[in-house]
Amino acid sequence: MKKTKIVCSIGPSTQNWKNFKGLVDAGMNVARINFSHATMEERKIDEELIKRANDELGVHIATLYDTKGPDLRTCTFEGDYIDLVEGKTIRIIESDEPGTKDAISFNYNGILKDLKPGMSVLLDDGFYKLEVESNDSDGGVTCRICNGGTIKSRRGVCIPGIKLDVPYVSEQDREDIKYACDHDGDYLAISFVNSAENIKEVRKLCAEFGKPNMPIISKIETQYAMDNLDSIIDETDVVMIARGDLGIETGVENLPLYQQMMITKCREKAKPVIMATQMMASMKHSIRPTNAEVTDVANAVLAGCDAVMTSDETTMGEYPVETVQNMAEICKKVESYYKYDNRYDYTATDKTDIIARSVVNASNQLNSKVIVAATMSGHTAAAISNLRPDAPILATVPGEKIAKAVSLNYGVYPVVVGEYKSTDELVNDGVAKAKEFAELNKGDQIIITGGFPNNGNKTTNFMKIEEID
Ligand code: PGA
Ligand code: MN
Repeated sequence: MKKTKIVCSIGPSTQNWKNFKGLVDAGMNVARINFSHATMEERKIDEELIKRANDELGVHIATLYDTKGPDLRTCTFEGDYIDLVEGKTIRIIESDEPGTKDAISFNYNGILKDLKPGMSVLLDDGFYKLEVESNDSDGGVTCRICNGGTIKSRRGVCIPGIKLDVPYVSEQDREDIKYACDHDGDYLAISFVNSAENIKEVRKLCAEFGKPNMPIISKIETQYAMDNLDSIIDETDVVMIARGDLGIETGVENLPLYQQMMITKCREKAKPVIMATQMMASMKHSIRPTNAEVTDVANAVLAGCDAVMTSDETTMGEYPVETVQNMAEICKKVESYYKYDNRYDYTATDKTDIIARSVVNASNQLNSKVIVAATMSGHTAAAISNLRPDAPILATVPGEKIAKAVSLNYGVYPVVVGEYKSTDELVNDGVAKAKEFAELNKGDQIIITGGFPNNGNKTTNFMKIEEID
């Protein structure tokens, strides 16, 4: 059984039942719909696929909507692409016209005045570099092309050291956040977060749109976010290590330490963390991953990530299903060596956390086969997951929404049971569900935890050790 969760970005390669089902069968837990790319028609296709999978396959695939965020992009180009020729110059100007090989524009013109000679302008995930030669009297900027190639319309632009002076939530993001709330998204990932204030602003909007409890995933992809990491992790529900943009913004040599810092802090602060981008990049065109990619996925698991993510591999790749099959196999293999230890011991403050600690200690000491967590909100299962017990966590949940709410938590397997009327029912059904879930033999121990129902207090307040007879 795989404990690490897999988030798959959905796109043209997987917007068909055959491949989508392939992802589900391979071990996808969460489907990511990226508002930067997905048209209204595509969003509808993706949502229908998720619904069909959940209805027909009895799974609980969660929907993750991902905002565009305040990112800088090129304009569209005449014929959808231009050729950048090394050594030649190109101008960046203020214009509504499609770009040409001589002059292009960006989606924020305000940035042009900040460009000084010698600065780097990185295009298309940093693949192409321009160097500013002069800031011209007509408001445009002349750049030298440092390395050439073909660039398509609306590619990302990064100018290290420059912060976009725009409101965090754009009109488009506001509409997309509303869309995510209206469509009952299970998670909302927000791009280019710079501070805890950005998260609070989005939370307020979600409340305005009727979803005050929308779980927010903060994508760490700027130096500003790294500088404010502690307050961001405190404020967010989940962290995504968005290495694609982070590597360009901060320099790739910083990525290994930054990602380890994020994982350690997330474990300490008990927040789920997703490792993202280029995990299996070569599988976009190759049926086999490289050794480096295999090791990257393995190291994410060993370092303590809750989830790993696919991007282009499953949106535009030739082998989307094989990518996830490989990822799942690597995760499973590595998990068998991943042992709970006290490095990630965080300070328990509330009753649920205190019980979670006892549950995990008891489970590890008794070598219990399953931890059953009866959970109304998913919080109990998440608290236990954060302590990384050796045993899998079977979350008995009241409905589909909560089953999806635990879809990013390491080692948590939801089963929908409805609402229990009594503690006896909770325990007895817990044992029954554990037997269906895992192969249990006479003498095996399982741990059951939950809240006594119907006493006005539904938070976790007991733990029971059951021996299978
Ligand atoms: P993106 O985010 O795929 O939406 O750009 C992930 C990243 O930047 O790594
Ligand atoms: Mn990004």
